[in-house]
Amino acid sequence: MKILVLNTGSSSIKFQLFAMPEQVVLASGLVEKIGEASGAVHYRNTNDSGEQNIVHETMVQDHGVGLTEILNLLLDGSTGVISSTDEIVAVGHRVVHGGVYFSQPTVIQKDVLIDLKRISYLAPLHNPACIKGIEVAEDCFTKAAQIAVFDTAFHQSIPDYAYRFAIPKEYHDQHGLRAYGFHGTSHKYVMKRAAGHLNIALGDFHAITIHLGNGCSMAAIQNGKCIDTSMGLTPLGGLMMGTRSGDIDPSVLLFLSAHLDMSTHEIDQLLNKRSGLKGLTGTNDLRSILAKYDEDDVDAKLAIAMYVYRIKKYIGAYAAALGRLDAVVFTAGVGENSAAIRTMVCDKLGILGIELDDTRNTALDRGTCSIQSEKSNVNILVVPTNEELEIAIQTFDVVQSRQ
Ligand code: ADP
Repeated sequence: MKILVLNTGSSSIKFQLFAMPEQVVLASGLVEKIGEASGAVHYRNTNDSGEQNIVHETMVQDHGVGLTEILNLLLDGSTGVISSTDEIVAVGHRVVHGGVYFSQPTVIQKDVLIDLKRISYLAPLHNPACIKGIEVAEDCFTKAAQIAVFDTAFHQSIPDYAYRFAIPKEYHDQHGLRAYGFHGTSHKYVMKRAAGHLNIALGDFHAITIHLGNGCSMAAIQNGKCIDTSMGLTPLGGLMMGTRSGDIDPSVLLFLSAHLDMSTHEIDQLLNKRSGLKGLTGTNDLRSILAKYDEDDVDAKLAIAMYVYRIKKYIGAYAAALGRLDAVVFTAGVGENSAAIRTMVCDKLGILGIELDDTRNTALDRGTCSIQSEKSNVNILVVPTNEELEIAIQTFDVVQSRQ
């Protein structure tokens, strides 16, 4: 069964075409700079004649044109991997915000689109683009099931005392102000991989998953279900990130508004785009910050110390919330690739039974690896995340359950 996974942003469409249940990627790529004067289509396939990489620079007026470009490449005699659109049985859409309405992957029907539009105010930068992706896919793939897979869904099991804010009830009841959490697809995927690697039944698995990419978040997992996560109403809360501040005393926002006369838009830009690692060092690329750290650069030293300290605090908090811990799981660009950050995070966590093995930490194989020392009470794992595959798996499961 062929399943197309789409991740639609405001000016881009990322895609992967999977053969399921084999979990084989047939083609993947990206349309970028949609609506701008100079767009581009990047396409990679693996067909019988080997691998092909194509970059095609062209103006892409809108998302409909972008998806048609992808479809043409998928169908093309020399680059294609399908002979008819109808071969694609389902399209799995990454949808950032599902609010409280969606805790499972969902077949998109009219009422689902209405609900998605209703909650778009919670993710004004992301959900309108996801909806656009769904609408253009419905036009291109008229026979395929359209399935929404939500970044927030995995966190819908969080109890109210963890997701509520301590402000009057009506802000929750009337406006939906609460923590929702994000990166759920990644946390769920690495949780399943980690439990499988350790041979622990998911329903018995207790873990802390740490997703460190440009966006960073953590999840506390009890019996295979999320009970807390670091991001909140939006992906701005929690850990320090590439360009986002993470947790901050709310009165800083009041100060920026009252004393520096900043507008809500300016504060939004400051906290989302000009803060975090970038705000402290001038770049959000952790590799270059680590290089400066090694040269004793003062700003890099402070930024890394803050970045690591925040992660350690969340590990302590989640260990206390969980009461039992089978594994700490590192994933995403930084979590998978930086032995130095993993070392700093795990330093002095012996109090929680978390002890790293330096040799294992620095000599990783591909795939899931254990990096704890012999005397560690807790497994420490590095698990490469794969959100597209998780979306394909969940989409496949929905299609199977309907047959
Ligand atoms: P995104 O959230 O955009 O998917 P990624 O998961 O690709 O991000 O992570 C990007 C981050 O990972 C960047 O800060 C990058 O510098 C960092 N990174 C990638 N490789 C390494 C590495 N070898 N060492 C340290 N950081 C790395």
